[in-house]
Amino acid sequence: MTAPRPEPPAEDGGDHACWLPRVCPECGLLADQDPPVMCTGCGAQIPDDDPRPGRAVTP
Ligand SMILES: [Zn+2]
Repeated sequence: MTAPRPEPPAEDGGDHACWLPRVCPECGLLADQDPPVMCTGCGAQIPDDDPRPGRAVTP
């Protein structure tokens, strides 16, 4: 008899994609808002771009 073993919660890094775009390219500070936003640390503009390939931006 085999007891059903509960699956441990998978550690997926999906949440990382949520805050990665918020990281300031100039100083590395994490913005508290979604881009585009101005960095509160150095005042640089954090652009609202998606570095992941495959996302077509053509109209
Ligand atoms: Zn900054």
